[in-house]
Amino acid sequence: MHKRKKKIKYSRLLFLIIFNLLLILGIVKIVNILKNKEIKEEEVKEEIPLISKYKAIVTDSEEQNKDTVKKYFVNGMDTNDYKNTIEKIDNYIDVSGEYNELNYDFEKHYHYYELEEIYNNLAKSSIVNLEIIGKSVDGRNIYSIEIGNGDTVTMFEAGIHASEIASPLFITKFMIDLVNGYEANDKEVKEFLNKYKIVVLPVANPDGYEITIFGGNAANNKDLFLAKATSEQLDYLKCNANGVDINRNFPSQTSGLYYKKYELDESVSLTKSYETESYYPGETLGSEPETRAIMYWQNKWLPYLKSYVALHSAGQSIYNGKPYLSDEYNYNSNVCAEIVGEITDYFVLDKIDEQAGEGNDGTSSEYMAETLSGFIFSSKTGRLSTDYYKKYYSELKYKNTCVIVIEALEEYTNNLKIIKKEYYNHKLEEAYKAIIERE
Ligand SMILES: [Zn+2]
Repeated sequence: MHKRKKKIKYSRLLFLIIFNLLLILGIVKIVNILKNKEIKEEEVKEEIPLISKYKAIVTDSEEQNKDTVKKYFVNGMDTNDYKNTIEKIDNYIDVSGEYNELNYDFEKHYHYYELEEIYNNLAKSSIVNLEIIGKSVDGRNIYSIEIGNGDTVTMFEAGIHASEIASPLFITKFMIDLVNGYEANDKEVKEFLNKYKIVVLPVANPDGYEITIFGGNAANNKDLFLAKATSEQLDYLKCNANGVDINRNFPSQTSGLYYKKYELDESVSLTKSYETESYYPGETLGSEPETRAIMYWQNKWLPYLKSYVALHSAGQSIYNGKPYLSDEYNYNSNVCAEIVGEITDYFVLDKIDEQAGEGNDGTSSEYMAETLSGFIFSSKTGRLSTDYYKKYYSELKYKNTCVIVIEALEEYTNNLKIIKKEYYNHKLEEAYKAIIERE
């Protein structure tokens, strides 16, 4: 009995030891899991939330100090307008029928409706999607053309300035060659388009394009500002049909603000004018339907963006980098610009040429660069704000992303011979491809 009792005691003791050991191990494990969970939650908090395709994120903080806020000379965008702009619904067009091989003629001035026919025909290819992203002041459709199956996206925006009709032509020629090649089973083109995706906004200011080439009579509404311009004035006017420079109408952080110098630069006119090349930004940021179409488009593709290329037509130079954005942004954009500069022989400008606060901010490239750097819209200022993401805004949300502005041609011109020469002599096709293929 005694012995047996002892035996029981021993086995009980053994059981207790093992039980306790297991208990301790269990507790340690649970503590570790909880700790990890905490770490994971913290990590998630540290992560910069993606601004999703259709969500506008708004803060109510002011990013500027009070002195500079007073000096805005353009009203900020209304918050609901901003939300409605970004969260607009898709508008894809289903184009049926067989693809017809297209011939692009550099010697011919295309009406905008003829370009529309080209874009609709491109959309008959299985490699192309066509979306109407908005309507211009004078009632023309604004298109986005998606070509290719790749995951990362190169965006080309062209034709924001009326008198710069060359860039819409360059990018239209480029798209036609790609899709013709794909439809003709060209092995190289097929590989290229299966690997990459390009998203093109070929004519951001369709009224400006049409009226610049065909005159005020081409306007649907003859009372519009641009419809009343003389043909001499149409040679240099950059605005949309309302007389607003769309490329100064974006609600970027310093749009309509001087903080570098409070006196107007004499070469810059900020009022609506037929007489000079005006940078009139409108009464209110985001006021123009073309601006809103571009903003919708930019935000929609932002989560997939690799390179953003704005095509202009004056100066044979490449803008890249913004002094007030991160080193990473500036480095990437400079790499991208150097690739293009090497091929085209265009001059790669310094980032200082993109200084903010000079009074003519509010460009599409500024809005894009700031958005991808994590700036969000402030309901107080009606512009993008760095405040909410102060901690992060020096870093890019999306890695390896660049924004550049390519200025083709010595100066803008309607001369089709000069435009054609520029495309071939400065190897624009090769340059566009090199940006798309950038690692
Ligand atoms: Zn321009």
